[in-house]
Amino acid sequence: MANLTDPITCLPGIGPTRAKLFAQLGIHTLRDLICHFPRDYEDRTKLVTIDRLETDKPACFRATVMSAPRTSHVRKGLDITKVQVADHTARLSLTFFNQKFTAGQLQYGREYVFYGAVSGDFIGYNMTSPVFEALDAPPVATRRIMPIYPLTAGLSNAVMVRTIAAARSVCPDPPEILPAELRRTYGILDAERAYRAIHAPSTMEEAAMAKRRLIFEEFFVFSAGLALVRALREGKKVPPYENTDLSPFLASLPFSLTGAQKRAIGDIIRDLTRGSPMNRLVQGDVGSGKTMVAAAGAYLAVKNGRQTALMAPTEILAEQHYASLSRLFGPLGLRTALLIGSMTAKQKRETRAGLAGGEIDLVIGTHALLSDATAFQNLGLVITDEQHRFGVAQRSALSEKGRDVHLLVMSATPIPRTLALLMYGDLEVSVLDELPPGRQAVDTFLVGESMRKRINAFIRKQVAQGHQCYVVCPAVEENQELGVKAASVWAETLAQTVFPDLRVEMLHGQLKGAEKEAIMAKFARGEADVLVATTVIEVGVDVPNATLMVIEDADRFGLSQLHQLRGRVGRGEAKSYCILTTHNRNPETVGRLKALCATNDGFRIAEEDLKLRGPGDFFGSRQSGLVGFRVANVATDLETLQQAQQAAAQWIDRHGQDSTPEAEALRERIGELFERTAPTLN
Ligand code: ADP
Ligand code: MG
Repeated sequence: MANLTDPITCLPGIGPTRAKLFAQLGIHTLRDLICHFPRDYEDRTKLVTIDRLETDKPACFRATVMSAPRTSHVRKGLDITKVQVADHTARLSLTFFNQKFTAGQLQYGREYVFYGAVSGDFIGYNMTSPVFEALDAPPVATRRIMPIYPLTAGLSNAVMVRTIAAARSVCPDPPEILPAELRRTYGILDAERAYRAIHAPSTMEEAAMAKRRLIFEEFFVFSAGLALVRALREGKKVPPYENTDLSPFLASLPFSLTGAQKRAIGDIIRDLTRGSPMNRLVQGDVGSGKTMVAAAGAYLAVKNGRQTALMAPTEILAEQHYASLSRLFGPLGLRTALLIGSMTAKQKRETRAGLAGGEIDLVIGTHALLSDATAFQNLGLVITDEQHRFGVAQRSALSEKGRDVHLLVMSATPIPRTLALLMYGDLEVSVLDELPPGRQAVDTFLVGESMRKRINAFIRKQVAQGHQCYVVCPAVEENQELGVKAASVWAETLAQTVFPDLRVEMLHGQLKGAEKEAIMAKFARGEADVLVATTVIEVGVDVPNATLMVIEDADRFGLSQLHQLRGRVGRGEAKSYCILTTHNRNPETVGRLKALCATNDGFRIAEEDLKLRGPGDFFGSRQSGLVGFRVANVATDLETLQQAQQAAAQWIDRHGQDSTPEAEALRERIGELFERTAPTLN
């Protein structure tokens, strides 16, 4: 017997070359193989007669070979083998290309089961390269439900089927982790049957049941993991903060906090003085003032002798936070530093030395903060901004850099409760449901190309009033995506032809960190009138003097993303506008964009987005790395997700510390999952 953790090269026929192909699919061990699940099935159980074969619809049929296979050599590299077969209803001619050997095995007068699709019309039915098996051979490729696996070039489905079967014959399936009681309650298959049925179901219903079990299991493990993390953290004792005096901080603000900000800060103070680690999510629409809530937390941590790390998803955002927070904290005597990948080695070394030596109180950075090279003298608070871009593992990776670390998470993405539980199941939530006073809704318009002159005139008018404008394009380069406006080209056009008298700048993700910073800083200082950009400005960027955003080819963006983009304007006192352009006349697309024009409420927009596109798209591809689900699909398996979450919470509550084999196996699986979703640290 082999082990689940053995490399697949222990199987006959899997050498280093094949192993590399499997590795491309993330398959290294026997367990990976057994957990490589079909993406679909082909029901080949039903046999039809030849006269019932439908054009282009593959099916199984029994037929007798009526002529010996005849191969003709057409030209170099092309052999054609022809065979006649028949059943009691009709004859059919089979054609094989370059399969002389395979087709040659068909014996005259013998009966076989074939699987293939006919092409042509009633004058000349033909079938190309069907699969076949002798009637008395065991059913492998016909007369069964064929699993169809995710594949990669050079690896055929047949090889995958064979290799997975081989793995299952030499080692046990992964152990049962779902208690019998729970399986009964939710009507799900046991592990043994599920693993057999997912790879070799006897009916399509059985395949569906197996899939449901595995989806349930994945969600269950993940949710149980979050519940466990939460329980562990809650059980942990940390010294409560004693200094809760925020008055110097509050006195230094140019405004008074909103009620919602005060409530969130109150939650944070309670967390920090409670004696167990804080795990709090602050959720608030764009512009609701999350940064100040984070700043209050940082201020308290520092006043209690602890360092704070603030992690942002992009360098631009990190730089902005650094600029505004160092301005705010400098006069209060807090020492702030920046740590991002594009800094020089020397700069990074200096910041790191300051962190290790305790000369820096607050560091703001990107993933660079996670690097092994970054050590803290006394890290006490970790804040992640725009959290939906970071995974659970990254949160904990950063908090492990200190003892007794409190965690504060900021997110502008309003997500439905189920999904919030999935992503933030280990966190408590404060909602900022109030915008700072004087904020006016951003008036949003959807226009076609015919309005171009008026758009340009409108840009001019804003600039003439001393304001600034963003122009956002879906791509950087012309050829990136066909037929959409590219920032580089459009910036050129605007600068040269349309607004030769205005100061036009361009910003996109392919620029070097220092260039980006310089351009952004220029725009923030009011030294540019029009900033042409890609979605790099999507998160957090804060230039209150910008009052107009034009989004080109707006149909290329998701609604929630558009809302985030739009949140870059309307951040000051002046009335702000957002103009969406599109060539798209699709009623659904237009309806979607009109929904955005009709409301400024991020939660309503998110709901609309979900309804229209499903959560998969809602999160976008960025999310794919968040939780490495193999079978489960957050978009389509919401109901199962809910059940699994409920079951997991209950189970952890009652049996989390049990020492039954199932509980042990579950804890082991949780450990593996969280390791697998860990980020690659740079
Ligand atoms: P977000 O929640 O999108 O991160 P920010 O924290 O960037 O929002 O705040 C948006 C803008 O509102 C910033 O310019 C910030 O200085 C300002 N702001 C925050 N809180 C208040 C407040 N209570 N009163 C007035 N302006 C505020
Ligand atoms: Mg923000």
